[in-house]
Amino acid sequence: MSDTAKTVLLVEDNEDNRTVYRTILEHFGYGVIEARNGEDGIRLAREEHPDLILMDISIPVIDGWEATRILKREEETKDIPIIALTAHALATDRMKAEEVGCDGYLAKPCEPRRVVAEVERLLGAAQGNEA
Ligand code: MN
Repeated sequence: MSDTAKTVLLVEDNEDNRTVYRTILEHFGYGVIEARNGEDGIRLAREEHPDLILMDISIPVIDGWEATRILKREEETKDIPIIALTAHALATDRMKAEEVGCDGYLAKPCEPRRVVAEVERLLGAAQGNEA
């Protein structure tokens, strides 16, 4: 795995956002896998063990808060960094992100470069071993 690209699981129900974030992450050399709801996001996290999860909070079936809680409780997935994407820059959202165990937090609308900067803060560059 050491010289393969790091993989980001993008859990996002909005197709335009998926396209924007996938495009910039791939441009910076990250691999991207996608889920459109919380249930699929949890399943893919368990199956694929991505290096990081970008978690939209407002998603169908299981919302991003609950999906994060579940993944952070499980031995196999609890160490995967999760960045929450919330629709409002509310102080309560930031507090909730910390409470459920998110490692990072971004308020939408979020410029693609800020997403990459936050991913790099937690993962390092797309290639290589450094955390
Ligand atoms: Mn959404």
